Amino acid sequence: MQPGQQRLVVVSNRLPAAIKRDGDGWTVKAGAGGLVTALAPVLKNRGGVWIGWAGNSDPEMDVDSLLEDFSSSAGYDLYTVPLTKKEVDGYYFGFSNEIIWPLFHDLQTRCRFHPMYWRMFLDVNFKFAELVARKTTSDDYIWIQDYHLMHQAFFLKSMGVKRNLGFFLHIPFPTPDIFMKLPWRWKVIQALTEFDLVGFQTMQDRKNFTECLRRLMPETRVVGRGAVVSVDMGNRQFRLGAFPISIDFNQFSELAEQPEVVEESFKIKEALRHRKIILGVDRLDYTKGIPERIRSIQTLLRRYPELIGRINFVQIAVPSREEVDEYKELRIEIEQLVGRVNGEFSFPGWVPVHYHYKSFPPEELVAYYSAADIALVTPLRDGMNLVAKEYCACNVNEDGVLVLSEFAGAAAQLQKDAYLVNPYDMEGIAKALNRAFHWDKEERRGHMANLRDNIRKNNIYWWVDSFLNAGIAKSLGDFPEVDTLQFERG
Ligand code: UDP
Repeated sequence: MQPGQQRLVVVSNRLPAAIKRDGDGWTVKAGAGGLVTALAPVLKNRGGVWIGWAGNSDPEMDVDSLLEDFSSSAGYDLYTVPLTKKEVDGYYFGFSNEIIWPLFHDLQTRCRFHPMYWRMFLDVNFKFAELVARKTTSDDYIWIQDYHLMHQAFFLKSMGVKRNLGFFLHIPFPTPDIFMKLPWRWKVIQALTEFDLVGFQTMQDRKNFTECLRRLMPETRVVGRGAVVSVDMGNRQFRLGAFPISIDFNQFSELAEQPEVVEESFKIKEALRHRKIILGVDRLDYTKGIPERIRSIQTLLRRYPELIGRINFVQIAVPSREEVDEYKELRIEIEQLVGRVNGEFSFPGWVPVHYHYKSFPPEELVAYYSAADIALVTPLRDGMNLVAKEYCACNVNEDGVLVLSEFAGAAAQLQKDAYLVNPYDMEGIAKALNRAFHWDKEERRGHMANLRDNIRKNNIYWWVDSFLNAGIAKSLGDFPEVDTLQFERG
């Protein structure tokens, strides 16, 4: 079989379909994210499989027959890993959300290193690996997605199952001083070395990983200098690469030009009396720096009082992990801050902060993106941050400004034309916003045109191709160089 023809098997925590209640019964709805959009045609063309959890622990539900219909219309097979509530609590809410998520985002004080979570993480990874082994053959290319499933290669190998295995980490990989806090650090790093290719968002993440590897496994050696290198383990080799994930640029750009969206965008501007719009869009998560951002708006209005009444800050916060106490507390903190800033500066006919706690349909989100004069994207740490890229794709008039956290993965790629800020530096953000407010049209156009060219070229399809080329090519010289080095040197 030609390498290009290998069947692709994607494995992720969640399937790209959600089971929703429909009257007395249930229906399956396709997921809408960029990853699904990009992978669906590849899976359809090559014949593919997606393995994951369907998001439901109801033992009564016949998930397989529900997925069967969906599979035949999607053109690829879906298989679900059934998980009990206890497993979901330990592996997903526990190990993934309370240990790896905060630790890998440099927020180690938020970690709860519960030994029970670790055991459940191993049990569930074993369960996934069993299904992967059963549903795949050695001719397939298996692409494991993200930190929930870091032990797939380890378990498949321990079962004696030989597969070509790629892994992509969507979140950052921390520096050794942070990674070393993980009680199971050696086991996790060892499990990652069992993949044939490990992909990261940035060269910096890849560098952090090789530094951890050197500390924990000093006998390993990194060979090569390009965006994809090889690690020599003595008895075997595996590859490491940096592949910045992206968006379907044309889909966003074209949506922004649809007459209904243009009209909606105009309505938003009109409702805000054509004052300059500063926009924040995030899942409500503590890594996104939303309270710090609201404080920066407060600082902006205090330091530059001439902007009072001339800007509107719109924050869209998409509900996320609402059952978790920490997220409930964060929501309260944000709502109090919004109240405080509005209380300090509002006057009849104007409030500085417009806060939405809800999820928007794509057309409306795109209308907000294209209405915004400045996107304020300031996560404390982020694997990539797709909002930054989506904003640029929707800015078809090329007159917006992207103010971006230097700790977002996207900064490595967009640093030349975004206005980079430290998300903890409120004075610095206020200064950046004031400058961006006064940037002339030519300057804005120049930078936004470059940002758009960059994202148009390095889109989600480019990302899928780059990863699969690096994973399937026989030798490092066999595939066109993935030019992530154009963004950063590592
Ligand atoms: N998003 C959404 N509904 C909304 C607002 C945003 O689905 O109302 C999407 C947005 O289009 C983007 C994603 O949420 O694709 C956020 O991705 P990002 O990489 O910025 O952060 P993540 O949430 O993955 O940490």
